[in-house]
Amino acid sequence: MNKFYTGKQCKNGHKSERWTLSGECVQCNVERVYRRRREMAEMMRLAQGVS
Ligand SMILES: [Zn+2]
Repeated sequence: MNKFYTGKQCKNGHKSERWTLSGECVQCNVERVYRRRREMAEMMRLAQGVS
């Protein structure tokens, strides 16, 4: 889990570190994972047939 800091903003305006491997903004990554997790939780809830 290596990060580096470019000092530049990402495409979403974060002044954040980047992952060395992907080059992705750390903050973008966090937000995307968080959204995905919420979507998954919602899908699980629906899949359980709460009526
Ligand atoms: Zn970002």
